[in-house]
Amino acid sequence: MNDDLMNGGLGRGPVINPLKYPSVKCDNCGEELFEEKIILKKIPGVIAGNGTEDINYPVPVLVCAKCKTIEKTYRDLLEKGNKYQENNEVSKSQQGGLII
Ligand SMILES: [Zn+2]
Repeated sequence: MNDDLMNGGLGRGPVINPLKYPSVKCDNCGEELFEEKIILKKIPGVIAGNGTEDINYPVPVLVCAKCKTIEKTYRDLLEKGNKYQENNEVSKSQQGGLII
């Protein structure tokens, strides 16, 4: 039996064995280990239904364990969020480089 094709009895297709696939590497230094950090996204209160109170919403991201660069998939998503903020000219004074 092909062990890729065993499913967990849920009928939703094969269970994938991630260990046999290549590791994602840090695109800055090539490290294979990542660790989870939290980024706080500021959501305007009017959008979150919280009146004028902004909400700091925690979003888990993976950063390189060696050089602390945010993994590319997460970085792309975060850049989209930061562009959204630029386009809306909400808080230019609060922008700064994302240094982790
Ligand atoms: Zn790295």
